[in-house]
Amino acid sequence: MTNEDLTQKLITEKFLTTPQIINAFKSIDRKDFVLSEDKDRAYEDKPLSIGFGATISQPTTVAIMIEKLQPQEGDRILEIGTGSGYMTGLLAKIVGEGGKIFSIEYIPELKEFAKANLKKYNFKNISLFVGDGKAGLKEYAFFDKIISSASGDEIPKSWKEQLEIRGRVVAPVAENLVILDKLSKRKFKEEKIHGFIFVSLK
Ligand code: SAH
Repeated sequence: MTNEDLTQKLITEKFLTTPQIINAFKSIDRKDFVLSEDKDRAYEDKPLSIGFGATISQPTTVAIMIEKLQPQEGDRILEIGTGSGYMTGLLAKIVGEGGKIFSIEYIPELKEFAKANLKKYNFKNISLFVGDGKAGLKEYAFFDKIISSASGDEIPKSWKEQLEIRGRVVAPVAENLVILDKLSKRKFKEEKIHGFIFVSLK
């Protein structure tokens, strides 16, 4: 199997539908983001361990989350839970050079893993941070979109505050994937999709 086969499978199964997102999945090779001993399993539709209790998310899950987020060229996006950097790379490809991805990882070693994995792509629109993503990144607010691969009990208040009006958060809450739209400063609309399991927020 190749990265092209994996992308094609996600298209056939209708998890991927948006041309810019499909293009990103074709350009960012999942093999570059798994541990060396798992290179031959990189194109399986499964999460894989990347150490420190973290996983590179299942491709189907990544596809669903990014399709729900609908990133646009030029967007400023806050990502929580960099992990392998795979989603970071996909997002950076979609927003292009006029956009920017700010990604926070709790575990310093994983931030370094992501940095090494992303190196070959030469992105100039990614900033990686070590810290607790629950606080967001106030000094770089506001964000057009916020996406988290680690689940909590609720969407942190800081994310709601640091989101642009008309912006969107896609994040796991308990076993749901929550899609939260900011309608005005204090008004939000929420949709939930049931049946996901994610790494928990620390
Ligand atoms: N998108 C990543 C998913 C990694 S799993 C990938 O596909 O590779 C979720 C990640 O969230 C883990 O790396 C974990 O260390 C990180 N994490 C957990 N709690 C966090 C927190 N409070 N702040 C930032 N990152 C966190």
